[in-house]
Amino acid sequence: MFAIAQQIVSVRTQIRQAEIDFERLPGSVRLLAVSKTKPSSDIILAYLSGQRHFAESYAQEARSKQQELGAYNITWHFIGPIQSNKTKLIARHFAWVHSVDRFKIAQRLSEQRPANLPALNICLQVNISHESSKSGIALNDLPELIDAVNALPNLRLRGVMAVPAPQSDFSLQREPYRLLYKAVSELRHPNLDTFSFGMSNDLNAAIAEGSTMVRIGTSLFGTRQYS
Ligand SMILES: *Cc1c(COP(=O)(O)O)cnc(C)c1O
Repeated sequence: MFAIAQQIVSVRTQIRQAEIDFERLPGSVRLLAVSKTKPSSDIILAYLSGQRHFAESYAQEARSKQQELGAYNITWHFIGPIQSNKTKLIARHFAWVHSVDRFKIAQRLSEQRPANLPALNICLQVNISHESSKSGIALNDLPELIDAVNALPNLRLRGVMAVPAPQSDFSLQREPYRLLYKAVSELRHPNLDTFSFGMSNDLNAAIAEGSTMVRIGTSLFGTRQYS
């Protein structure tokens, strides 16, 4: 059995150590547990170790887990590709969406966000490694999308998310994050306080370059059968 409780402690320790090593404020990097493809029982094990923020990539799959876990005080993040026919589900049942890369999707999320809920926290996904297969907008198009999304009433624009092309070398892992952090900082936009950077394989590089939220699946829950 993969010891989830133990892995939670180990990843938290790694985050705290990286904050020290790269002179980041203690506690400035939040751990998101990426539970896609994993059962609700795994989420409960992580929850019992104090984990409260969970991220999912498939709206329907996430919804069934949310229904099973209704009694738990979980903050849900959506990090997967967004089809138009899923925006209603996402707008109703998540606190954060990290993967917005089109104005039309942002507009639908804003229109469909229920009035009794707080504004939906949004990160814009940037295709920082210029990979044609990946979702995300080009860095050049970011300022325009920021202004457009920022004007929507039921959303709260918070920052950017990136999934760079995989690299094993530490300095190559840092490069795309450094580029995006710099570009966003130079906009001096008062609302942008979130850098959703880093996965199991590049957590340290992401923290070195300003991550405020790391999205960790494999290191917590073990390998997945798909995606
Ligand atoms: C699956 C996924 C993760 C988690 O990746 P691991 O390598 O398992 O830590 C993070 N971010 C996104 C967008 C994902 O789809």
